[in-house]
Amino acid sequence: MKWDHVIENGEIVTEEAIYQANIYIKAGKIASISADKLDGEAKEITDAKGLYILPGLIDTHVHSRDGGATYKEDFYHSTQAAAAGGITTLFEMPNTNPPINNAENFNKQVENLKKKAHVDFGLWGICLGDLNINELQDLNELGVIGFKYFWGYAVNKNTYGLIYNYVKGMKDVIPPSNDGEVYQMMEEVAKTGKTFAIHAENSDLINYLTTKVKKKGKSDYETILASRPNLAEELTIQTGIAMAKKTGLRLHILHVSTAEGVDLIKRAQEEGYPITAETCPHYLFLTNEDYDKIGPAMKVYPLVKYKKDQDRLWEGIKEGTLSFVCSDHAPHTPEEKEGDLWNVPAGMCGVETLAPLMLNAVSDKKITFQKLVSLLSTNPAKQFGVYPQKGALQVGSDADLTIVDMNKQAIIKKEKLHSKSKVTAYDGVQIKGMPVMTIVRGTIVMKDGQIYAEPIGSLITPK
Ligand SMILES: [Zn+2]
Repeated sequence: MKWDHVIENGEIVTEEAIYQANIYIKAGKIASISADKLDGEAKEITDAKGLYILPGLIDTHVHSRDGGATYKEDFYHSTQAAAAGGITTLFEMPNTNPPINNAENFNKQVENLKKKAHVDFGLWGICLGDLNINELQDLNELGVIGFKYFWGYAVNKNTYGLIYNYVKGMKDVIPPSNDGEVYQMMEEVAKTGKTFAIHAENSDLINYLTTKVKKKGKSDYETILASRPNLAEELTIQTGIAMAKKTGLRLHILHVSTAEGVDLIKRAQEEGYPITAETCPHYLFLTNEDYDKIGPAMKVYPLVKYKKDQDRLWEGIKEGTLSFVCSDHAPHTPEEKEGDLWNVPAGMCGVETLAPLMLNAVSDKKITFQKLVSLLSTNPAKQFGVYPQKGALQVGSDADLTIVDMNKQAIIKKEKLHSKSKVTAYDGVQIKGMPVMTIVRGTIVMKDGQIYAEPIGSLITPK
């Protein structure tokens, strides 16, 4: 048998072009790409006539809650959701319990996740200031994809869990790092050459405004927005960029939500600094005006802002200031997501709806098909040092393919999501253009919405 799997008659989409060709897979790798039919028998043949073949899509920002709050979500479910949504690789965030703060916990997490992984995965390492400043080089050598710093968040003294609504004087809590400590973390990560990714919201400002605004006794969306305004993101991005310039750091701004943020990042890029940024579907497809219809399901941090921000984010994508789009998948149970908006936790499902929403944007002509491949596959693979193993349709690359049907219409239904907790802001949203097959290293893991394979995913590390 010459080939393990042949994908025939599909239209290949890369960053540069769309063209018809057959893909020949052997031992999990792309062995040949040819417009002509090649000789040799195949164990498996997929006819992709009328379908588009994309390099496997990557979601760089996923919180699967595993270990830790596995009653909300776990890696078995989140990677099924990923496969169902056309994602072949995801990068798991490190704010788990235990967090990915040292070599021991990194190794434990790999053992924990690989039994449950339906798609390939990379691991982020966490920066906890003085608590693990001496562990970062070990994490680098083990192959973290990058380092995440939750700027402005306090840490529980015992579990090292993050405190999302820190108030001065809390017991058993290590307060947020000061700017000197942040600078030291940046110096340390700069030595690794890897990405230092920040949650950018200024907690001092948020604390002050929260106290002030709460006195009004209201808990509508506009009031919450007044407590976490655009200025909170602007301040931290500004400080982050200023510090990164001095350290040579590859600074990455996570989930950018404001026009001010995009402008600051653009300026730093124009000056030649290696500053990158991402945004998420909720900032691209929702605004504050959607709250009346959707309710607390759409509460995320940073909060979804205004129409002018949404417009600037799309512009940022077009001009290249924002180099990828990811889900910030962060499920909570439906019960947790109901009630007073001040108390509802931030986050919702996203890994399964990321690609459908972006494919729908292609159908709506908001972005080109090639641009989608850049945003969801090639750019993230390059950013995190896994290109061309991932993010490419080339001979020698992993045979990770996302096959999509641009004529297929679907309605997102929360009860159909594969995640454990089924909370989404997109319940009832009509989509044109759906992933119909997800292939990880030659193996079909999803076909027509059904999960096929057992967990075959494995850890990937930067080269
Ligand atoms: Zn996140």
